[in-house]
Amino acid sequence: MNLNGKEHHWRTGRDPLFRSWCLYLCVTLAAALLGAPAADAAAPRAHAPNPGYYRMMLGDFEVVALSDGTHPFPVESVMAGTSPEAVAHALAADDLKLPLQGSINAFLVNTGTRLVLIDTGAGALYGACCGQLLANLRAAGYAPGQVDEILLTHLHKDHVGGVLRAGNIAFPNAVLRVARADADYWRDPASRARAPEFLRSFFDSASAMLAPYAEAGRLRPFALDTELVPGIRTLSAPGHTPGHTAYLVESRGQRLLVWGDIVHVAPVQLRDPQVTLKYDSSAGAAQRTRRALLARAAQEHLWVGAAHIAFPGLGHIRQDGAAYRWIPANYETMP
Ligand SMILES: [Zn+2]
Repeated sequence: MNLNGKEHHWRTGRDPLFRSWCLYLCVTLAAALLGAPAADAAAPRAHAPNPGYYRMMLGDFEVVALSDGTHPFPVESVMAGTSPEAVAHALAADDLKLPLQGSINAFLVNTGTRLVLIDTGAGALYGACCGQLLANLRAAGYAPGQVDEILLTHLHKDHVGGVLRAGNIAFPNAVLRVARADADYWRDPASRARAPEFLRSFFDSASAMLAPYAEAGRLRPFALDTELVPGIRTLSAPGHTPGHTAYLVESRGQRLLVWGDIVHVAPVQLRDPQVTLKYDSSAGAAQRTRRALLARAAQEHLWVGAAHIAFPGLGHIRQDGAAYRWIPANYETMP
């Protein structure tokens, strides 16, 4: 009798539970046969880069950190005055390890009357890792033609390389400012001949990058510490290069020190500011300058804009005994 009843339901399909189960089985079988993805399958990876600009206000000035990209920084082969063990220990203390991705940051300052770009990234000189500054400048809402002044901290490739794009001036209305000591040194054949072999290409690239601006009458080196733009002063900071310069940006009593290459590997050099880089022109001067600017940034609670501290490279410095600590900017979606 029961068997007959089930057969009856099978034939007529009037048992709702049984009907649902049949439907589920049919859909699952059909999906498997047709290769349709299950509803809870993982999404494919997007492989999109992280955003490369970060905006903050400094008094009335808008400051935008621009990433030129990150690259595997050869920490183990370029640091001097330390040991591989000390480097590994410093990195491990910050939960980092080799190979370490190093940031290349530049800073755009809109004073309300002038648009100023401090450093320009590597352009094409570091290969595919970098040269993303122009795209990030546009993403931040600006066009290269709006930049009035380019202030360079020094003439190493990762700071000057972005002044050209495909061999042409990348910022068609900008005046290029750099310390005369750097402009002279990196374009001097005698200095090139005396320099170690690994630095020779830096002389060639500096000459090539400045030439189009010089020919256009838009290269204007400065010799003494001065206010280049209302609210932006130069601050001589020699050592990493002969004319290495920091820029002190000030609006309504708020101050930002854009310090270029004072720190290359924060976990190592904030713990021990005596650690230098084999690319430093003068290790002794680089140590003195680093100590002086770290102390000043900490004592005066300056904002710091750092070329090689993890993007956006905006934050503060705290003294911690003989060492220093980096306090990154507190993220704000809309400053
Ligand atoms: Zn650099």
